[in-house]
Amino acid sequence: MSKPSNKKEKVDFIREIIANDLEIGKHDTIITRFPPEPNGYLHIGHAKSICFNFGIARDYAGIDARCHLRFDDTNPEKEESEYVNSIKADVQWLGFDWGEDLYFASNYFDFFYDCAQHLINQGLAYVDSQSPEEIRTHRGNVTTPGTPSPFRDRSVEENLDLFARMKAGEFEDGSMVLRAKIGMTSSNMNMRDPVMYRIMHATHHNTGDDWCVYPMYDFAHPLEDALEHITHSLCTLEFENHRPLYDWFIKNCPVPAQPRQIEFSRLNLSYTVMSKRKLLRLVQEGHVSGWDDPRLLTISGMRRRGYPPSAIRSFCHRVGITKVNSTTDMAILEAEIRNELNQHAERRMAVLDPLKVVITNWPSDTHSERLEVPNNPANHEAGTREVSLGKELWIERDDFMEEPPNKFFRLGPGRSARLRGGYIITCTGFEKSDTGEITEIHCEFIPDTIGKDAPDGVRCRAAIHWVDASTSIDAEVRLYDRLFSVENPDAEEGGFLSCLNNDSLSVIPHAKLEASLASADQGSVFQFERVGYFCTDSVDHITGEKLVFNRTVALKDSWAKKK
Ligand code: ATP
Ligand code: MG
Repeated sequence: MSKPSNKKEKVDFIREIIANDLEIGKHDTIITRFPPEPNGYLHIGHAKSICFNFGIARDYAGIDARCHLRFDDTNPEKEESEYVNSIKADVQWLGFDWGEDLYFASNYFDFFYDCAQHLINQGLAYVDSQSPEEIRTHRGNVTTPGTPSPFRDRSVEENLDLFARMKAGEFEDGSMVLRAKIGMTSSNMNMRDPVMYRIMHATHHNTGDDWCVYPMYDFAHPLEDALEHITHSLCTLEFENHRPLYDWFIKNCPVPAQPRQIEFSRLNLSYTVMSKRKLLRLVQEGHVSGWDDPRLLTISGMRRRGYPPSAIRSFCHRVGITKVNSTTDMAILEAEIRNELNQHAERRMAVLDPLKVVITNWPSDTHSERLEVPNNPANHEAGTREVSLGKELWIERDDFMEEPPNKFFRLGPGRSARLRGGYIITCTGFEKSDTGEITEIHCEFIPDTIGKDAPDGVRCRAAIHWVDASTSIDAEVRLYDRLFSVENPDAEEGGFLSCLNNDSLSVIPHAKLEASLASADQGSVFQFERVGYFCTDSVDHITGEKLVFNRTVALKDSWAKKK
């Protein structure tokens, strides 16, 4: 597991609150939590929450500071252990460790039930036999107060009896609920006698058929936090209006601690959708190949795409923690990826759209030279490697033009360019097929020009990448682009599926790669010079047998131009 960077965290308003709580002696322990519901794979929004919550725990070395990984698995219908396993793997891959602190909210079902009974005994909860429809209409709206349920004044005994029978399975789904008795006139809709428990005859992944009543999030979450002695329960802004209810349950239930909820703004990213429900549709309807499709900003998709976890952490750090809702430009994430890979990815040469070059003045058909080239000019410690050069090469088709305009500095009839790390070559002719396609070009190399300036009379202003044809290897290269063609797919009139980018994946079945890439392992990332950053595909690449590379990110932001 890679170690998180020790970059000093920005002091955001929540870190200030925590520092102050320690200073005034309100706490001597800091406990945060990351509480995913296991109903899908994690995405980059969750990464922000993970980096934040685990990051705070890491801030404090001298005191007991921890971050719990808690599965909020109180909803029996949508949860699967596949999701539990993927979430654990994703948190670890991001560089964080929950240690002993792994919890499942479903292990607290008895405690929730006890708290509900306690509230009934205090006259603070009642069983409502209205239909869900009636409950909804009687809640009123922001301008109209709600109407009390006709069942609101049931006696404690009757409520205890009905609640026990709800639990025992005597009643059908939807026939009754347990509600908190707070008031129907509050201006905060969340406080109008919110539902605490509903009847669901469903099998739960952990508790099986033990329960047929399940707690609502707003009731369960504060109790989970309190049971685990969470000091600061950090959540996104949508929950700001739920905080009075959070505090009400903490105040009125027999809990062992007083956690404090603090909200921050969620991460929104342009050109993507983040809700798990929408991601699930993309997966289930086959718009992508799975949760780990490299075009998705799921953590598993980013891993398969070759995004380094350190770059994701830097991105979250850069976005920061505030209370202002905003949308972050995808280009910022991509800039972090490039920045990280520029320093650490070794350079290789690969030609994606190959055009044959024949060097007509080469000493012989079989003559081959070995050139020493740097693995990473940005990092001398990366060393050098040898690449072979023979009579025939592959270059990129668009590095040659039959009738080049003045500003085109690469190859054309009579023009010269340098082979990266090698000789300068001059184009002397080309061949065309019947259909007018250039099939190969002819060049002469100029001896003694490796690492040296062009001789007098030769104009050479560009260095192009190339691959020796006799030793090159074939690979499948997958070019990924943004999955959506508009900045805000959620706002699209025809729905987010109506603006999928049709060019988000293009497959090049036979790219030509330099021979050293035959041994590329699972998980390696390279810069293909002048082309972009590429990693081996974690599913389909088999070292030395079937080479499959994913484009992690292009070298430049091509979207900035389009906009
Ligand atoms: P989604 O809305 O994408 O389905 P969710 O909020 O329902 O996500 P949970 O599993 O409940 O998903 O989330 C776990 C934690 O991650 C919560 O604390 C939640 O606030 C946080 N989280 C989810 N999405 C984001 C986001 N976009 N930015 C920051 N934090 C997020
Ligand atoms: Mg949720």
